Amino acid sequence: MADPATHARLATDTDDGLLLIISGPSGVGKTTITRGVERAIPGSVFSVSCTSRPPTPADVEGVDYHFVSRDEFKRLEARGEFLETAEVFGNCYGTPRKWVDEQLRRGRLVILEIDVQGAIQVKRAMPEAFAIFILPPSEDVLLARLRSRKRESEEIIQRRFAEARKEIATARASSVYDRFIVNERLDAALTEAADAVKAERGKRGR
Ligand code: 5GP
Repeated sequence: MADPATHARLATDTDDGLLLIISGPSGVGKTTITRGVERAIPGSVFSVSCTSRPPTPADVEGVDYHFVSRDEFKRLEARGEFLETAEVFGNCYGTPRKWVDEQLRRGRLVILEIDVQGAIQVKRAMPEAFAIFILPPSEDVLLARLRSRKRESEEIIQRRFAEARKEIATARASSVYDRFIVNERLDAALTEAADAVKAERGKRGR
């Protein structure tokens, strides 16, 4: 039985819940765009994933991720707690199903910042989800951006670059993404993403 509190409506509830997927390779500015869309659209909420990846000094528990052990992740997965899961760079990531359902019922724009493997699973389960893929202006620019973050060694940068190329190819080959947005200038890409979401919500007229 579902928890009745889950179904209680709030004064701020609306009927136009929309699931938004934002994907893109690392170094493309995806997180900045995702958080920008969240700020630009009232009633939007960011889905905080669970991950077995260890937190970096920049990560905040409960804001960027829920950090769990690999064993705990597998237990949650076995209990069906995730809407989708993926393994990225050897770490597990998953979207909490119950929280997303609850927010959608409340009419929120629910933003998932997930990789292509996850996006494919979500679109299969919820074809009405709207999906955006952020592209770099070119491969050279992407490599330069990965290097300029100064977060990782050259070996890791090359691995991330190879993964990024693969992810872009998979995204293009899948029919999952409704929009591809090139992040040439961050503010323009952010506006384009927010406008695309607003237009989509308007089109659905709910
Ligand atoms: P990072 O560890 O750099 O924060 O994230 C690595 C990759 O995992 C990024 O492409 C990010 O979008 C993706 N990711 C983060 N959370 C999830 C999730 O819950 N599911 C899936 N499928 N991918 C995720």
